[in-house]
Amino acid sequence: MAAQLIREWTAIQQFPAATQEKLVDLLGKLKSQDVNMLTILVMGKGGVGKSSTVNSIIGERVVTVSAFQSETPRPVMVSRSRSGFTLNIIDTPGLVEGGYINDQVLETIKSFLGRFLLNKTIDVLLYVDRLDSYRVDNLDTQIVKAITDNFGKQIWHKAAVVLTHAQLSPPDALSYEEFFSKRSESLLKCVRQGAGIGKREVQKFVIPVALVENSGRCNKNEHDEKILPTGTPWIPNLVQVITDVALNEKAGVLVDKKLIEGPNANERGKIFIPLILAFQYFFIIKPIQKLIKADAAREEAKPSWE
Ligand code: GDP
Ligand code: MG
Repeated sequence: MAAQLIREWTAIQQFPAATQEKLVDLLGKLKSQDVNMLTILVMGKGGVGKSSTVNSIIGERVVTVSAFQSETPRPVMVSRSRSGFTLNIIDTPGLVEGGYINDQVLETIKSFLGRFLLNKTIDVLLYVDRLDSYRVDNLDTQIVKAITDNFGKQIWHKAAVVLTHAQLSPPDALSYEEFFSKRSESLLKCVRQGAGIGKREVQKFVIPVALVENSGRCNKNEHDEKILPTGTPWIPNLVQVITDVALNEKAGVLVDKKLIEGPNANERGKIFIPLILAFQYFFIIKPIQKLIKADAAREEAKPSWE
C-alpha cells in the first residue's frame, strides 16, 4: 500500500451545501454500521463516462477523461478519507476494444486489485453505460459474462448500474420516465443473461439503476445542485444507491489469491492430467514396453554363446 496515498477528502467542500449535507449524512450512516472503508470498482465499456463519474463523486478532476481512447490503459485507485472514513474508487480501462472483449484488461484489473487490495473487499461494483443508447446487443451480455467469469456471480449482489448522459430528451414521444424504464430494463435483462441470473433468482439479485449527468451543462436546482430532468439531485442520489448496496447484507467480493489467479486457473490444467497420463501410457510407455519385449525376444532367440 506504500504507493497508495490516502488524502483527506477536501473536495467534498466543493459541493453545494445541500449536497454536502446529504453526503455527510450518508457517510455517517455507513460509519454507524461499522463501515469505515468503502471500495468501489467502476467497470464498463470505453467512453461511457466511467472516469467522469469518478471525478463527479470525488468532486474534483482526479482521473483523466477523454472523448477518445484513454492514453493510460491501466486501473487507477483514488482514495479519500474523512473523519476516519476511507473511500476507495477504482477507475478502470474500457472492457471493450474494437468490438471485442479485452480479456487483458480484466487480467490487469485483477492483478491491480491483488497489489493494492489483497484480503480487502470490493464493496460496490458500478457497472457504467449510457442512458442515451437505444440498443443492447450480444456484446453487452458478453461483457457481463466476462465480469462474472472473473469475479464470480456474487459480484452482482453488490452491483449498481449507472447510466450516464442522463440529461436527454427521449425520442419517439416517450416520456423521460418511460424511456428510462425501457432502457434500464433492457440493460438489466442483458446483465441477468450475462451473469446467469435465472428467472427465479431475480428477487435475490436486486440491481439498482442510478442516473448520472457529468456534463458541465447539467441543469441545477435552486440550491445549485446538479439535477436530472426529473428534478432529482443526482450526486446525493448516486451516493445513496452506493450506500444501499454497501449495506445490503450481502457479502462484498473478497480480493484473494483465488480471485486474482482465477478460480479456474488450476482446474483448467487438471482436466488435462488424465489426458496427459493416457498419452504417456499409449504413446510412450507402451511403445517402450513393446521395444523391450521385442528386444528380449530377440535376445532369447539368439544362441547364448553368440
Ligand atoms: P470512460 O472511457 O468510460 O472513462 O469515459 P470518460 O469519462 O472518459 O468520458 C468519455 C466522454 O464522454 C468524455 O468526452 C466525457 O466528457 C463525456 N461524458 C462522460 N459522461 C458524460 C455525461 O454524463 N454527459 C455528457 N454529456 N458527456 C459525458
Ligand atoms: Mg476512463
